[in-house]
Amino acid sequence: MATAEDDCENDLTEFCNYPIEDEVVESERRSMCSRCGRPITVCWCPYLPKERLDVKTNIYILQHPYETSRRLKTAPMLCQGLVPGKCRIFVGKKFSEHRYPEVNEILKAANTLLLYPGDDATDIQNLPLQYHTYNLVMLDGTWAQAKNIYCANKILSYPRKVQINDNPISKYVIRTQPTDSALSTLESAAVAISVLENRPDIFEILTKPLEAMCDFQMKFGAVQHQSKTYKIENGLWNKPLSKKFLKRKEQEKLKSSEQSS
Ligand SMILES: [Zn+2]
Repeated sequence: MATAEDDCENDLTEFCNYPIEDEVVESERRSMCSRCGRPITVCWCPYLPKERLDVKTNIYILQHPYETSRRLKTAPMLCQGLVPGKCRIFVGKKFSEHRYPEVNEILKAANTLLLYPGDDATDIQNLPLQYHTYNLVMLDGTWAQAKNIYCANKILSYPRKVQINDNPISKYVIRTQPTDSALSTLESAAVAISVLENRPDIFEILTKPLEAMCDFQMKFGAVQHQSKTYKIENGLWNKPLSKKFLKRKEQEKLKSSEQSS
């Protein structure tokens, strides 16, 4: 695959048509890449950094079991982009001390941050950096799944909470995001590491495979998804809106009118 990586890095068309290696059985038309687990034609491995990034931050992803069966995941891109051992994924909904002693130990450590938005979360940009290295814990799944994990594990209220207020627009255009500011797991981690280690280049490097994956999907006919907020605001949302959503929108309106007055 080394030549395919070099030749086709910036040429999606060429990459998609690249002949599959000889040892692949002909009948196996949708052969899989052993590294990313995606069909060879849409493999994003060539877009990973040439040398896996050695960062100080340790990433711990608590992944909802449903997330593992999704075809388009971003957590593996993060694990593959960083040196081995820097990004670890634990799959589950309940992370009891008995079954997950390591996770519990991390969650109790003083230099651990939980990336989870809320009124009690500090904007990561304003976090006073007290430690040389940080453990960053993230909850991976839809927002509802992440919330379920948060509520089901008391231990998750231990670490300091951080959130990302200043979002670059998400590159993950394939999956409908709940709001325009929602970031994929990969993007959130990339922003957090960039800020914690004061290395703005990290974001671009780590999110390259995501960009490639979205390009592949668009090429193969996926519709570019706009966020729910965008659709609602532009009259494109044709499903009934929940009371909870309407209430939140009302509160946001109030907040912004207070700020502007
Ligand atoms: Zn691959």
